[in-house]
Amino acid sequence: MAYVITDSCIKDALCVDVCPVDCIHPKKDEPQFEAATQMYVSPAECIDCGACVPVCTSDSIHPADDVPEDKKEFIEKNAAYFN
Ligand code: SF4
Ligand code: SF4
Repeated sequence: MAYVITDSCIKDALCVDVCPVDCIHPKKDEPQFEAATQMYVSPAECIDCGACVPVCTSDSIHPADDVPEDKKEFIEKNAAYFN
């Protein structure tokens, strides 16, 4: 399982700074950052630690098995970002 970021993300990158495995992208210094509408979690790299959740002021991050019903499409969208 992994954590999933949804479209309420405001791209302040607070989660990036606390992720111990650096699996949240695009980071501010990556070329994709400007055009991205939100941040994404790499499901292959996320270790499910939950450290990103409390720092997110927009409540955009959820465990994959607890994503709100109307945001389930973002499970696939997070994974697709890294394909
Ligand atoms: S902390 Fe929340 S709002 Fe900020 S970039 Fe991460 S997911 Fe987006
Ligand atoms: S749950 Fe942990 S490893 Fe996964 S994205 Fe959040 S901070 Fe990174």
